[in-house]
Amino acid sequence: MSLNTQGIVIREQTLKENDRIISVLTKNQGVIRAYVFGAKKLQSKMSASTQLFAFSDFGFNLRNGFYSVEHAMPKEMFFELRNDIESLALAQYFAQLEEEFAPSSEKCEEFLRLMLNCLHILCKKKRPLSQLKAVFEMRILCLSGYMPDIMMCKNCGKYEDSVMYFNKTETTLCCKDCYDGVGTALEIGVIQAMRHICYSDHEKIFNFTLSDKGLKTLSKITEEYLLLKTKRTFKTLDFYNSIKQ
Ligand SMILES: [Zn+2]
Repeated sequence: MSLNTQGIVIREQTLKENDRIISVLTKNQGVIRAYVFGAKKLQSKMSASTQLFAFSDFGFNLRNGFYSVEHAMPKEMFFELRNDIESLALAQYFAQLEEEFAPSSEKCEEFLRLMLNCLHILCKKKRPLSQLKAVFEMRILCLSGYMPDIMMCKNCGKYEDSVMYFNKTETTLCCKDCYDGVGTALEIGVIQAMRHICYSDHEKIFNFTLSDKGLKTLSKITEEYLLLKTKRTFKTLDFYNSIKQ
């Protein structure tokens, strides 16, 4: 059986000398693990189109429960990621999050779109890395059913206070008057940014500005929220945090 779909390589592993196995976040069939035979031979047409972060038109072949790549035509290679270690590390973290969250065997256009948009912006250096990280973390949680309830104070319905308290466990918000001693105090700008990421259309999710301090807080809170929901660690995140400026 053959399957044609667009996808981006989010993991690559060398098997024998010339073969590799790749994980591809596809538009139509979730994350697919597939063999690439002869990928590393110099004359292999598929060498580039099946490497990490290559976005390609793939043709897969399914036999005995295993996929192999029949053909792959590169559409976008994101070469610029390799010029900056911090950007590359962040991209690797995004790839690991996709492996964690993206569904298998079903359409996951939104997951793919988020990945492609973030990589484009990373390459063009159009936004601070901390902003990209926060947007990616929060948005992939929302796509995966972990959208927090942060429209208003959970008790009195107040929409804005200078400071509001985010309870990561309950995923709710509290105003100053109703504060019950649980939750992280966040300035209203950070709350507004979180709302923007959760509730905006996909093409607008990056359209907000915050001070450096605000972005740092935002990135810290989205990371804590993600780690709480996944109950695991991510090597790629630890690496990114160890090298970031
Ligand atoms: Zn309240």
